[in-house]
Amino acid sequence: MGAQGSFNPFEMARVQFDKVADLLDLDSGTRELLRSPLREYHFSIPVRMSDGNTKVFQGFRIQHNDARGPCKGGIRFHPQETVDTVRALSMWMTWKTAVVDIPLGGAKGGVICDPHSLTPQEQEAICRGYVDQIAKNIGPAIDIPAPDIMTNAQHMIWMLDEYEKILGSRFPGMITGKPVGLGGSLGRTQATGYGLVYTIREALRQLDIRPAGTRASVQGFGNVAQYAIELLERIGGKVVCVSCWDQQDSASYSFRKADGVVLDELRSITDRFGGIEKDKAKELGYEVLSGAAWLEQDVDILIPAALENQITGENVAKISTQVKVIAEGANGPTTPEADKVIHERGIFLVPDFLANAGGVTCSYFEQVQCNMNYFWEMDEVLGKLDLKMTSAFIAVSDLARKKKLYMRDAAYIIAIDRVAMACHQRGWV
Ligand code: NAD
Repeated sequence: MGAQGSFNPFEMARVQFDKVADLLDLDSGTRELLRSPLREYHFSIPVRMSDGNTKVFQGFRIQHNDARGPCKGGIRFHPQETVDTVRALSMWMTWKTAVVDIPLGGAKGGVICDPHSLTPQEQEAICRGYVDQIAKNIGPAIDIPAPDIMTNAQHMIWMLDEYEKILGSRFPGMITGKPVGLGGSLGRTQATGYGLVYTIREALRQLDIRPAGTRASVQGFGNVAQYAIELLERIGGKVVCVSCWDQQDSASYSFRKADGVVLDELRSITDRFGGIEKDKAKELGYEVLSGAAWLEQDVDILIPAALENQITGENVAKISTQVKVIAEGANGPTTPEADKVIHERGIFLVPDFLANAGGVTCSYFEQVQCNMNYFWEMDEVLGKLDLKMTSAFIAVSDLARKKKLYMRDAAYIIAIDRVAMACHQRGWV
């Protein structure tokens, strides 16, 4: 959610919050506190560029709420980054950590820059400059950053190194998303996709549908989608259609195989941006369809795992009557208009900030392991992840059932109530 034109994500986040605040009958002090971030840092990062000139980049770190624990959230590098986008994302992080009940709050950071046009040395200077500006206000007990759009493990290591130089000691739990072997956690790569499938498995259980024999269609073939497909197949499901973006054509396509896509085969013809080579897919027997086709399949499960605003008022009617579950891997894939229709049709929705919380949950595990300086085996990480995701899902679906609520509303109610309660217990409001 970078460029937004007239769409203001912070306004949208506040509208969502106000609706739930009404349902929870929150007092005016708590509302006012939670409608805005607790703290915002805006700063300049001067960087000596490779041509010898100095360029000044704008950076932000926005800490929405830390009543339940230190803030947590990624740092984005994006040329169209805006303060309101970062504000909205920091608020959503507060709800996400609360809904999975991990002892963390919500934050987000960003730098207005385009990594495509920066040398690695320039990117390193931005990372170090970012930490120089914010070192006193982040840390394992204050606010723990992570990778996000256009930042990766290398950026995290530069930031960690700068932080440790300033403080003169080792603090591996200060940041997550690090490489395995340098403070990273096993399972982080799989965590969001697998976490998504743990929630799908539970949704199917509620609907009394056995996973074996179910069919799914997925938008996206990146990190989230690929690991979701991997686990979905392992529990007996079949994915019959995936879609992705084609850089060359500047268009999206769907790839269908009626008896199920073969994950390894597709991976072998996919680039690092999650784009599948069309011609090779055809040779392997895939039907190549329009980018919109993934949504129109006669399947039991739809998994939007690419971008925001993909299921809209215009295309929601094309969802097959056979679809029983929609699990939102991407952030904000459903517009409010489409959401209303999905609710009315009685499709079981697993909302984004619950469905894709496996990533932040594993980042929390990374931080815990770093603080102990003791690292778990893969099985232990994934076992704990399953437990957390399943408990979170059951808490939300129990409330939805008891109070006859839509799953998205139930998830927001649980999350916001937990944060409001922590603020009350601390005596803030
Ligand atoms: P990614 O960059 O690895 O993959 C994105 C995929 O989407 C690619 O296959 C790309 O081709 C496809 N895509 C892009 N535009 C498309 C279009 N118009 N139509 C169809 N496909 C298109 O990204 P990711 O890490 O898999 O993240 C996917 C979504 O999940 C994002 O919304 C992200 O914010 C969200 N998310 C990711 C994580 C995580 O841990 N990776 C955690 C929480 C939420």
